[in-house]
Amino acid sequence: MDLMSNPLRAAGDGGLGFCYGSDPDLFRGCGALEDGPLLIALDSNIIFDLEDHGAAILDGEEIIGVDAKLQAQLGALGQILELWLLRDIRFIVVPRTRLDYRKEPSVERVASRERTFRRIEAAVTFQADDWGDEHRRFLGERPATAAVEEAIARVSILDGLMLRSAWDAGVDVFLTRDDTVLAAVADSPPSFPLVLDPAGLMGHLSSMGSNAFDLGTVEHAGCRWAVGVPFGDSGKWVPLFEALSV
Ligand SMILES: [Zn+2]
Repeated sequence: MDLMSNPLRAAGDGGLGFCYGSDPDLFRGCGALEDGPLLIALDSNIIFDLEDHGAAILDGEEIIGVDAKLQAQLGALGQILELWLLRDIRFIVVPRTRLDYRKEPSVERVASRERTFRRIEAAVTFQADDWGDEHRRFLGERPATAAVEEAIARVSILDGLMLRSAWDAGVDVFLTRDDTVLAAVADSPPSFPLVLDPAGLMGHLSSMGSNAFDLGTVEHAGCRWAVGVPFGDSGKWVPLFEALSV
């Protein structure tokens, strides 16, 4: 098995992808690949934001009953979803996020939580069934470096398991609103995933270019996108809207 091959089949199916050389500080999980999707792991708090406020976010409505800080984060999450509609961004729920409990929940809560995860995961990951083992960008072994171990040691054991899961999956970004995790590992160097909240990620993406149709692409030999890919993938919108509107 070629460990450096890209198990995310059909790169570009989700819209125009990215040139990883455009921003080495962002595409931290790309390994030796030059082009492909932006891969973002979602912490459980982001999934619950989508569950609680997803319909309002997609409708562009003001979200009432939350403080200004959360309002800003939810607005940024909406902007990320807008970019996702145009560009090949893949969200994944790393396995450990499913077990992110502070205390053992009831059987009913586990079941309803799993339904929520599956519903949102199926909508935002987009064509998950088509890319094979999408939560394993490196198809298995990805030895942790000393810097990775050092970063993981800065958070709680539970959060550490989740970050290790994100590392194993070869994601570029771990998206969370957990201020403790953000403060502990936000400055960790590549190739540890960039740990950001939605506003932080949107700020980073905005700094890469103002045109949503080409930010994160650069001219380079053998660019996968040089010949162009189809735009306007309407296959994304309907499942997302349905998943977040129930
Ligand atoms: Zn390229």
